[in-house]
Amino acid sequence: KVNVFWYRRDLRLHDNVGLFHALQEDEATLPVFIFDKYILDELPEDDARVSFIFSEIQKMRNELQEKYGSSIATYYGYPEEVFKEITQDFDVKAVFTNRDYEPYAYQRDANIKAYLAEKGIEFHDFKDQVIFEKNEVEKNEGGMYLVFTPYMKQWKKEFKKISADTFNSENRLHNTLQNSRLPNLSLGDMGFTKSSIEVPDYHLEDDFLENYEETRNIPSINGTSRLSTHLRFGTVGYREVVQKAASAKNETFLNELIWREFYKAILHHFPETQNRAFKPIYDDIKWRNDEAEFEKWKTGTTGYPIVDAGMRQLDKTGWMHNRIRMVVGSFLCKHLLIDWRWGEAYFAKKLLDYEMASNIGGWQWVAGTGVDAAPYFRVFNPYSQTDKFDKDKKYIKKWIPEYGTNTYQEPMVEHKMARERCLETYKAAVKKT
Ligand code: FAD
Repeated sequence: KVNVFWYRRDLRLHDNVGLFHALQEDEATLPVFIFDKYILDELPEDDARVSFIFSEIQKMRNELQEKYGSSIATYYGYPEEVFKEITQDFDVKAVFTNRDYEPYAYQRDANIKAYLAEKGIEFHDFKDQVIFEKNEVEKNEGGMYLVFTPYMKQWKKEFKKISADTFNSENRLHNTLQNSRLPNLSLGDMGFTKSSIEVPDYHLEDDFLENYEETRNIPSINGTSRLSTHLRFGTVGYREVVQKAASAKNETFLNELIWREFYKAILHHFPETQNRAFKPIYDDIKWRNDEAEFEKWKTGTTGYPIVDAGMRQLDKTGWMHNRIRMVVGSFLCKHLLIDWRWGEAYFAKKLLDYEMASNIGGWQWVAGTGVDAAPYFRVFNPYSQTDKFDKDKKYIKKWIPEYGTNTYQEPMVEHKMARERCLETYKAAVKKT
């Protein structure tokens, strides 16, 4: 008999909770990864995230083969069909995995668990990608916090109480199934090609953490950690990141990690907010939703340099600086009155670090429709944002080569008019109640 460890968004051999537990058993462990057709069918053939996942799995495969004569089996298909195949090919005792908190993932896991149960196969899932999940940080009287600051304070209180457990899966890899001839697909087998976009390494040095509060707001420098994609796919162990952040004198960085957990808990409690406003009155906003204007926003040709620089950075690199995500998001929802869901869907296609909970959270925050969001009457002024955060226009010039020449277009909409139009439109929605 074998145990299966099902990799999803935890692509590492070390400090992996589910893998650690699987490897503790008497049976050998077969690691598997499923390229899920439900997800992949929606993506372009050169999707950078698929390339990244693929290369991370190959790295792990190589390490397992060289050191232990074992490997990772890769499959392409619908998860329920793949599990049929796995359970036909191997005598499986139990399946181990790490929990995933998105609505689709809950549904998928429930189906697989039920299927395995029929066959008498156990299903064990573990907390790996967060410190606290679901109801683990809640109000004294019970229930989820709807405001970030008290959630963050409670998170820190709870964090002090827990012991720093380690899950040294890397020390037990000799217990992976020794069989190097496991199914292995190429990108081409799945109809994909290698993307030209690479995921940069993250950085987390001590002096970086101390200076982060200042550097994080300057989009022209490498002043943020670039951890987001690694956290999304689990190519970094989250516990060590949090320990490091918690030991820094300045807590700003830790607070950002707590925002990530806050939004995950919100999506867990309110999965319906994946496509409706957290505050339902805002679903009555009369969006203009002009397709041609949306196109200008997407292609970085709005005539607002800070917005265009951000949209071009996203298109070229699959990443955008947080400050600029707020500026372009606010511009779309408020200056153009385009539904935040359009922007959310576009980011979902483009971002390497796309994370449903943070993306929905971020978009509802800029639109003013979300939990603990910016008030609707706060309309970011792209010009004063530029003065504050890109005074010397280094970021703008980096992404807009024609900036300052007469080929750069005029602003597509006048700021003052757009601001007033936005306030009237939002007011009309709010007034209805
Ligand atoms: P750092 O500044 O180094 O932060 C470290 C980590 O903290 C990040 O990797 C991330 O995990 C977390 N974090 C930081 N800021 C936030 C935040 N506001 N909300 C939640 N977590 C945060 N982040 C995503 O990971 N995926 C998304 O799809 C996403 N969509 C966003 C959409 C909008 C409209 C906005 C305003 C923000 C969005 N964010 C998203 C949050 C934030 O912009 C990114 O996490 C950050 O830019 C990633 O770069 P970094 O790792 O260098 O960040």
